[in-house]
Amino acid sequence: MPSIYIETFGCQMNEADSRYIAERAASAGYSVASAAEEANVIVLNTCTVRDNAERRAYGRMNHLNALKRVDPSLRLVVTGCLAEQDRDRMKRLAPHVDAIFGTRELAELGEQLAAWQPNFDDVDFSDDRALVTSLGGTGDAVTGAFSHLRAYVTVQRGCSYYCTFCIVPYVRGRFDHRPKSVILDETRDRIAQGAREIVLVGQTVNAWSDAASGDDFGDLCRSIAALPGLERLGFISPHPKDFTEKILDDLCTLEPLNPRIHLPLQSASDGLLRRMNRKYTLAQFDGIVRSIRRRLPECAITTDLIVGFPGETPSDFQATLDYVRSGVFANAFSFIYSIRRGTPAARWPQVPRELALERFAELLDAQNAVTRRYHDGHIGRTVRVLIAGDSKKDARRLTGKTLNNVTVVAPKPADYPAEDREGLHPYAQTPWLDVAIESAHVWGCFGTAVGRAARFADAGVPVMRPLFDLIATA
Ligand code: SF4
Repeated sequence: MPSIYIETFGCQMNEADSRYIAERAASAGYSVASAAEEANVIVLNTCTVRDNAERRAYGRMNHLNALKRVDPSLRLVVTGCLAEQDRDRMKRLAPHVDAIFGTRELAELGEQLAAWQPNFDDVDFSDDRALVTSLGGTGDAVTGAFSHLRAYVTVQRGCSYYCTFCIVPYVRGRFDHRPKSVILDETRDRIAQGAREIVLVGQTVNAWSDAASGDDFGDLCRSIAALPGLERLGFISPHPKDFTEKILDDLCTLEPLNPRIHLPLQSASDGLLRRMNRKYTLAQFDGIVRSIRRRLPECAITTDLIVGFPGETPSDFQATLDYVRSGVFANAFSFIYSIRRGTPAARWPQVPRELALERFAELLDAQNAVTRRYHDGHIGRTVRVLIAGDSKKDARRLTGKTLNNVTVVAPKPADYPAEDREGLHPYAQTPWLDVAIESAHVWGCFGTAVGRAARFADAGVPVMRPLFDLIATA
């Protein structure tokens, strides 16, 4: 059986697309390889939202050329936003790429995989080359035994808002809302495959609507929350202007809704928001924050911020800094503005790099202090987390996410088994860990796993204390 390796850059939209590619590959007879070196087809699902992501993708294409030189039968495919934007340039810069598919050509990509599949018939595969058969997982972590637990379901593609810094409407097109029945079917499938948390994905997810029924995003969430077997529900990323009172009323009645809303602000200066074409003022944004807090007092609100947007004055920046320091966000993803070819802001006079870096550092410090305080509030509590797998820094530890999306790390319990050769893991059957939080950091919290449960609503059964704890106290 030939195998495919999918490497994903960028957002959850790409994650969901990679899952679609993995499924098309599986139905065409591929298994999912656990490393690029083991695959017969490598797919790079690229991003172009920031310059850095673009450079990484080209760097990776060059790196993979070395593999192609060793094994000329290897096929390299590039898809995603960079493929859509850079198709012609990519053919020049990376002529060794076998096929390029834009963001709206995933079905064609699937057909190409099916067409290539027989070419690999005469290739000799050892058992080790096609071990992993479970679907799910993409890119950086190809097929983790736990990757199916949190499933991303795309409800909408593209965006029609044309923020002046953003490339998405150009590379993904205008709004294209998937029909409600299709979304519900896919969600049912994910639950049947073992997903414990469904995350609805769209560029401006709460602008979703169903032409046939007239349903809005609140109606969609209510229908999904009612599906048998659904344990938790989240969504990413809403646009502040599309949170109507009706949608918020719907959301706050949903028991499975995770208490976390990512609400991209970008800047707290009204002048800059206008230049960004964000379609709200700070007062309107803050009104939505208060509406959320009124209905969902425990809800963590996180955000995206851009520093150094063209024309950002000291007082523009100060407005953002002040708003962040007011402690409104549990966490923030801050970025230095990066020129995107073809967008209006790319043509405007730029903020000097040094100044942008200085502001970025100041903003990061301010938000880190707030985030740390927010995480401190978890110390002494036992929180339930959905397991994500081994900690990247220390394989003796596990990592997971709380309902409010805080990263939690804990030493593996003493009875924690190894993953089997099929990529299956007994803890994936009881993926809810109860972790007693002992310390807090900017990145998240550290604690000790004290219990685990098969379903979110179940009481936890005790787990054995970590081995090196037992040794230390013996
Ligand atoms: S809302 Fe703005 S930032 Fe978000 S995807 Fe659309 S154009 Fe881009």
